[in-house]
Amino acid sequence: MQELLETGAELEKVAGGSVWAEGPVWIPDSRVVRYSDIPNNRILQFSEESGELSVYREDVEFTNGRTLDLDGSVVQCSHGKRAVERDRGGVVEVIVDGWAGTRLNSPNDVVVKSDGTVWFTDPSYGIQKPTEGHPGELEYGDHYVFRFDPRDGSVCPVVVDVEMPNGLAFSPDESLLYVADSGLAPPGGNRDPDRPGGHSIHVYDVFDGRLCKNGREFVQVDPGLPDGFRVDEHGNVWTSSYDSVQVFDPPGERVARVPVPEKISNVCFGGVDGRTLYVTASSSLYRIRTTVRDAAAVLRSAR
Ligand code: MG
Repeated sequence: MQELLETGAELEKVAGGSVWAEGPVWIPDSRVVRYSDIPNNRILQFSEESGELSVYREDVEFTNGRTLDLDGSVVQCSHGKRAVERDRGGVVEVIVDGWAGTRLNSPNDVVVKSDGTVWFTDPSYGIQKPTEGHPGELEYGDHYVFRFDPRDGSVCPVVVDVEMPNGLAFSPDESLLYVADSGLAPPGGNRDPDRPGGHSIHVYDVFDGRLCKNGREFVQVDPGLPDGFRVDEHGNVWTSSYDSVQVFDPPGERVARVPVPEKISNVCFGGVDGRTLYVTASSSLYRIRTTVRDAAAVLRSAR
């Protein structure tokens, strides 16, 4: 397989000052990486052009993961609102905050499929950790992955068997959905032997563009756990872990590892050519040059 990193590429720290940086997305129009600093309850932006970090918004109800919608607006998760919301040019509106008469827990990460549907994970960190939201109850009693269809307003659970669904992404042709489980103790730790995997990324076949079946473990991630991740145009999964960005090919073999000096939460591809990997890791934002682009960005540009 081709080299995944540019020859001579080195990890570079480009910004600091966060408590827990998460939820990065590249915004092409303004050439910035926008990301959450969850405990500080604010959203930051790093400008690739100026090299400067700025505060985009404060008092944001503990936003977490985010992605670009098909129209270029930003879709993001809000622990505090227990919702997924849209930021279009600084105007924020909730797009989904409940299912079957109950409130969501605390949406964590989100992707938009090429048909415009919004898929998001709903673990309970934001109602458990006072530094990341507001204490609250599990109203539907579990942690699901949901699909929201803006065409008819419907909300449906699509994955119900992951302990703590966290990051998620589709394969390049959207025939597979990957979901990280950050809920179980690591391999060899204090875990229930009857439960599948531990600190794993699971994969599901997507039928009819909306049904997830045949769930199975894709990889176990060690050390630490998989939080956010992205899939590149060749189907490789670039995931967070405790000490490195780890890259797994479609069969699940680890093919690259980028050590990072802080605990990693998430990654996104960005830069003018889409081949710079940005990494949110605890207090900092890092980047490294790669040879690949985000699968979803390539799919959209082909349409
Ligand atoms: Mg996450």
